[in-house]
Amino acid sequence: MTESLAHEIDFEIHPSQTPVPAAERARILEAPGFGQVFTDHMITLRWTEQRGWHDGKLEPYGPFTLDPATAVFHYGQELFEGLKAYRQDSGSIVMFRPRANAARFNAGCRRMAMPELPEETFIRALELLVTQDREWIPDGEGNSLYLRPFMIATARGLGVNHPSSEYMFCAIASPAASYFGAGKTVKVWLSEDYTRAAPGGTGAVKCGGNYAAAFVAQQQAVDKGCDQVVWLDAAEHEWVEEMGGMNLYFVYGSGDSARVLTPALSGSLLPGITRDSLLRLAPTLGIPAEEGRLSVTAWRDACAAGELTEVFACGTAAVITPVGAVDGASGGWTIGDGTPGAVTQRLKSELIGIQYGHQPDPFGWVYKVA
Ligand SMILES: *Cc1c(COP(=O)(O)O)cnc(C)c1O
Repeated sequence: MTESLAHEIDFEIHPSQTPVPAAERARILEAPGFGQVFTDHMITLRWTEQRGWHDGKLEPYGPFTLDPATAVFHYGQELFEGLKAYRQDSGSIVMFRPRANAARFNAGCRRMAMPELPEETFIRALELLVTQDREWIPDGEGNSLYLRPFMIATARGLGVNHPSSEYMFCAIASPAASYFGAGKTVKVWLSEDYTRAAPGGTGAVKCGGNYAAAFVAQQQAVDKGCDQVVWLDAAEHEWVEEMGGMNLYFVYGSGDSARVLTPALSGSLLPGITRDSLLRLAPTLGIPAEEGRLSVTAWRDACAAGELTEVFACGTAAVITPVGAVDGASGGWTIGDGTPGAVTQRLKSELIGIQYGHQPDPFGWVYKVA
């Protein structure tokens, strides 16, 4: 058994007999939106206690048949990741920091009592899918192929006292245009009625359950005339954690004296790979970056004093989204003049520059797909 687990996990290749015709694909790629259309193929891989990981396949994209008593439907034992593949000007196809996603996926597996997937297998699965469906990667800066690996509990039965004994890993891919409108800022709602995550919970893990519990707060934000919800800590509703499905950055000062701060990883916010990339990239551009704690009061006061000049959110899907205004139960305020700030735009273009190969990649973040 140990021997079979130590072996490299293989994938059988079953190409689709009915891929989307090239002309239709070209039409779709002109305006793909986000997460609406999917490529011709997917990866599936199974896990059982007896066999470990097995039955890897690259196969035509399509529905699963699952018993109604399948564990994931009832207890939500599920985990996902999100990363992008890009077509660079040179024609190279690359992924951004896939090892970091593989490592975060496995950290999530440990928290969710799910079997870990060898990092090599995670990356190999994505490489196979991206290579097979490379014609689906739209070109042009801001466009990409969004990759969505995920794992679900597939054992049949309603017993609640133990994790599932069977799992399926799957990866799908979706061509994506840039996510939020360019040049716009979002207005955020400080949620005091709802909490995303508490100490000891699953806030640091990319599990669907966190999102399931968050939709109502997002709806409330929209009802209040805002675009996105900002989550505060569970105990005091005072410390800023993150925005919707993105991490937050705060810019102090401007020009040569600008510096940035992002909430520290308290255990209840998601350790974003974009967040980590900016923490490392900003100092190389002369912008000191630190992790810390920021209260709502300090946020408002620093904006009023003109010390806090810009705020932005960051994540794989939208890269960097400027925040222009804040609202909450005890009133709101504007950040700077409410438009995207210079530091925000600079960091965005530098990060995108590395991803698309327009800038050197001193960190080795760009992973060339073989
Ligand atoms: C995925 C995610 C992020 C951003 O992580 P990236 O690795 O930068 O994409 C931030 N917050 C939440 C809740 C997330 O699910």
